[in-house]
Amino acid sequence: MSVLSLADVYRARRRIEGRVLRTPLLESPSLSAIAGAPVFLKLETVQPTGSFKLRGATNALTELAAQGCRKVVTASTGNHGRAVAHAARALGIEATVCMSALVPDNKVEAVRALGARACIVGRSQDDAEQEALRLVREQDFAYVPPFDDLRVIAGQATIGLEIVEALPDVAHIVVPLSGGGLFAGVAFAAKSAHRAIRMSGVTMARGAAMHASLASGRPVLVEEVDTLADSLGGGIGLENRYTYQLTRDLIDDTLLLDEDSIARGIVHAYRHERLVVEGAAAVGIAALLDGALHDAPAPRGPLVIVVTGANIDIELHRRIVNAAPAQSPSRETT
Ligand SMILES: *Cc1c(COP(=O)(O)O)cnc(C)c1O
Repeated sequence: MSVLSLADVYRARRRIEGRVLRTPLLESPSLSAIAGAPVFLKLETVQPTGSFKLRGATNALTELAAQGCRKVVTASTGNHGRAVAHAARALGIEATVCMSALVPDNKVEAVRALGARACIVGRSQDDAEQEALRLVREQDFAYVPPFDDLRVIAGQATIGLEIVEALPDVAHIVVPLSGGGLFAGVAFAAKSAHRAIRMSGVTMARGAAMHASLASGRPVLVEEVDTLADSLGGGIGLENRYTYQLTRDLIDDTLLLDEDSIARGIVHAYRHERLVVEGAAAVGIAALLDGALHDAPAPRGPLVIVVTGANIDIELHRRIVNAAPAQSPSRETT
């Protein structure tokens, strides 16, 4: 018995329909050539808020609105806050988003531009969460957790449904891993359809709370550090209720990437796929370029990489692409 059911996921899909995009799943010739098997990219970069977080946030807020809720608060590394702000505006709900000083300015500005109140507190996602929970206690806000919430997980799981429907023979799905709402949802939907689908989680080597927790056998704290994959920062909560167990039960392997690899993923996405992706969204591509995803002894079928978001500061993006070595003409063409 699982805390989550497929019925929850189908209900989430009906709720978010028309508010969230069913995103393209496109084959990548360059990555297929490297992997020796068809590689597809699930492009959450095209969602109206530039990341998949709109799925879970829209599912949770639609349910809250139906219950008569008028004001919500959340804590976010940026993309979830932007998604909550977008969904709140669409539903006529007031939103406050607590973010730490580590959240990039472009993400804070995007939250404000959607009419939400941005409050900047502390140096970590945990600090932001404490402030959000204070508002819940003292001012009667409804809290919308960024990942450890069944409504949010069910919303993210709709990505898994879309993948298995579009590509029934998918063998392997690669998902960026932070709090685990995305991983738990996608893995639950995918393995419900086909148990043998391999599920890989990819994260940065420094400050990866879920990875440290899985290795310790229980949720643990890690120090939050600056990384190109800023959307993967933050803890999973010592009182984690859902995503730790779901991830532990559904994950086949976890891959850790250093900052240079993440930058290479961003550059490859730009040069070969004409995609602007943020660091957190580049980790799947980066892992493949590192040779870390190859199935032994041979690929059993198509591989899908979930490309989770586009919200990188455009100046930072330009610097990363310009700093990368130029390529030989034969590799530049795809
Ligand atoms: C939030 C986020 C993730 C990780 O999702 P979790 O549910 O926290 O594991 C990955 N990529 C992007 C772009 C994100 O915004």
